[in-house]
Amino acid sequence: MSGQADRKRATRVVEAGRRKEWTGAAVNPPVWRGSTHLYADSADLARGRPNEDGHFYYGRRGAPTQWALAEALTELEPGAHGTLLYPSGVAAIAGALLGVLESGDVLLMTDNAYEPSRAMAKNLLAPLGIETRFFDPFDLAGFAAHFDGRTKAVLLESPGSQTMEICDVPALCAMARDHGAASLIDNTWASALGFPALARGCDASIMSLTKHVGGHSDLMMGSVTAGEALYGRLRAKSQALGQVVSPDDAALALRGLRTLDVRLQRETASALKIAEWLAGRPEVAHVLCPMLPGAPGHALWKRDFTGGCGLFSFVLKGGSPASRARFIDALELFGIGYSWGGFESLVIPFDPARARSATPWPPAGWAGEDKLGVRLSIGLEDPEDLIADLARGFAALANR
Ligand SMILES: *Cc1c(COP(=O)(O)O)cnc(C)c1O
Repeated sequence: MSGQADRKRATRVVEAGRRKEWTGAAVNPPVWRGSTHLYADSADLARGRPNEDGHFYYGRRGAPTQWALAEALTELEPGAHGTLLYPSGVAAIAGALLGVLESGDVLLMTDNAYEPSRAMAKNLLAPLGIETRFFDPFDLAGFAAHFDGRTKAVLLESPGSQTMEICDVPALCAMARDHGAASLIDNTWASALGFPALARGCDASIMSLTKHVGGHSDLMMGSVTAGEALYGRLRAKSQALGQVVSPDDAALALRGLRTLDVRLQRETASALKIAEWLAGRPEVAHVLCPMLPGAPGHALWKRDFTGGCGLFSFVLKGGSPASRARFIDALELFGIGYSWGGFESLVIPFDPARARSATPWPPAGWAGEDKLGVRLSIGLEDPEDLIADLARGFAALANR
């Protein structure tokens, strides 16, 4: 569609994927529930259909509801050729890795990767004969030393979804490209609106749509958006694995997508306010919020990102798992639960030490007793109320 890429992002989020032939007279594409697509006659059947979105063939290749979502995500990622949808974010990560790796290959995975991604190395890739090496995302020389003729892909995550490290994605991707390896990034935190991954050098951008895009805590889905070099291979592997998402869920994801830009902006502003407040609390040793001036990763975030979100962490000064639990249990507005990116605020404790092999936790230079993590997903509530809730938590922390 002409001129679409020139429009501002708020406009593109509203327009993306709304092809007239898919929406008809309605604003949104209808929910096309159909396994069977009918052909006009035997000659039509024999002619077949191109294996591309936009062509009715059979339900496993989708219908306009799924095509509209995939096309919208492609339009929002500058440099993208196409998007594949998966029934969860984890399925998207697995689909991307299986799409680019074969037996005998080596994968380099950032040490701050989402824990189920790490588990995939052991439980999915190793039995297939694919070796995974974990690397320190801040050590560029160490990263370069990991490449040999077998290294075919790199999996990045920036920021890490608990510990919020921002790495130099363009530099890491450039090195991977020089060594003939594909760069994949778990871009769930920023989405294409906050981090145009392909434009920064990645070959594919993976998202858990369960988080920000769904945005309402009622849907599981994942996506991989890729440039032309990888898209065909990823699509072939995804089809071989029989991956398909339901049209009902695709419609929910499209609904969430339309408000993504305003939700991210509101959550970012609230998160920043709350992070600033936390930085002034005596109970807090470190605030891990890339949007916060002075916080780790802020300079790279300013250089490479075009937005933030409501997900960040902090580390308690000393304390014990029991005192951290008192803090969390005293919160009334923050639900305790996995996931994030919904309209409602969430809290979860985290202890990354067990999920690291190339980098220490707590990081070098921190006091050893400052290691108990708390992750907040800031929703759409008024930030003043959320701050009052956190103050209630700190009061409980002090009461023994
Ligand atoms: C939640 C999450 C995933 C996995 O997504 P699901 O939809 O839950 O399978 C992947 N990466 C990150 C960073 C996540 O937070």
